[in-house]
Amino acid sequence: MANEVNPFESMQEQGDDAAAYVDLADDVVERLKYPERVLELNLSVEMDDGTLERFEAYRSQFNGDRGPYKGGIRYHPGVTRDEVKALSGWMAYKCAAVNIPYGGGKGGIKLDPAEYSDTELERITRSYAEELRPLIGENRDIPAPDVNTGQREMNWIKDTYETLERTNEPGVITGKAPDSGGSAGRVEATGRSVMLVSREGFKYLDKDIADATVAVQGYGNAGSVAAKLIDDIGANVVAVSDSSGGIYDPDGFDARAAKDHKNETGSVNGFAGASEEITNEELLTLDVDLLIPAALENAIDEAIAQNLEADMIVEAANGPLTPDADDVLAERDVPVFPDILANAGGVTVSYFEWVQNRQGFYWTEQKVNNELERFIVAAFEDLIEGYESHDVESYREAMYIVAIKRLANAAKEGGVWP
Ligand code: NAD
Repeated sequence: MANEVNPFESMQEQGDDAAAYVDLADDVVERLKYPERVLELNLSVEMDDGTLERFEAYRSQFNGDRGPYKGGIRYHPGVTRDEVKALSGWMAYKCAAVNIPYGGGKGGIKLDPAEYSDTELERITRSYAEELRPLIGENRDIPAPDVNTGQREMNWIKDTYETLERTNEPGVITGKAPDSGGSAGRVEATGRSVMLVSREGFKYLDKDIADATVAVQGYGNAGSVAAKLIDDIGANVVAVSDSSGGIYDPDGFDARAAKDHKNETGSVNGFAGASEEITNEELLTLDVDLLIPAALENAIDEAIAQNLEADMIVEAANGPLTPDADDVLAERDVPVFPDILANAGGVTVSYFEWVQNRQGFYWTEQKVNNELERFIVAAFEDLIEGYESHDVESYREAMYIVAIKRLANAAKEGGVWP
């Protein structure tokens, strides 16, 4: 991966590209390029052997004009201040793209969770939650899961917040387990929006998704659910990968069985249903109808983009293409349906979870899935309207145009204080 590309600069560049097509004042564009505030922490946490360890942690609150800040918390050794800032900006654009009433936020702790015990992870998470407490709240900033965090961490954060605040406020965080105020359908929501955008993309481009060949890079929450649901609508998953490498079978294989194998062994490698093992780079350049990058940012750089043979890309990961790769694919006319729409299912169902928490009334999974489909299909239509009414080079630019207009309107309508 071309990790030398600074994701914060990529995010700013994408905003600039969109702003160039809309009549926005420079000061508004400037405001939409930087987070409003970034909390930087050094957490000192006791390990099981009694020693203290320091953890670098962040929370970036990007833009609050359209509603409370909203975005996930990532545990990864690659977490940096700039990565968190970039991810918070993408969240602001994403919430505006799918038209849910939130600004953008993101948090992260620089660590590899595999190196810590459950009790250590709980203390690290609670220490982080205690530091976040003055900044978060169901009307202020609502964190959620991201890479290497899930229901367990969300439940700990909710419990820490509620204990210290002496309140009951499940809407302070989303992605909780159902018995702790979580929503039906949340775990599958990101993969579901990837499937819906793939389906709509094929339809718009007048292609048939039945029997289309699909490769998925990254087989975690987003990638494996997308693969399973895309398989359910008739496509043929032929390759998937994780951080240990990939598997390939030109005839396709059962995406669910590949996930079961990963759950049992820790990796997709060795899955008996696929005929070949391949590298991640080989997966990214396979000749398939649809490529779904679902690992981390900057997975596809300029060189890979030049060799890429997929006919369409739907981004499940955040920022999986470098700006140079984006330019190459636009020049080569490879359609790329962008992250801020394709993976917005997670934040959309987080929004439904927050609505349910505030109402104290919980929806069925069917209602969640129906509402999600309604939001994602409407956003896809907005994207196409933006694409057809501006002379843009990519679907990404079109989606950013839709989003930046909404962000700029909210800023203008709110006026300036003080
Ligand atoms: P996850 O930790 O569940 O899965 C990540 C997967 O990527 C794992 O299978 C890991 O082995 C694999 N991976 C890591 N490095 C890789 C590499 N170099 N090559 C191939 N595979 C690699 O994380 P997730 O929640 O599925 O998130 C994946 C991406 O989707 C991230 O960019 C995240 O920000 C984005 N996303 C996730 C959600 C969500 O709700 N989970 C929502 C929106 C966006």
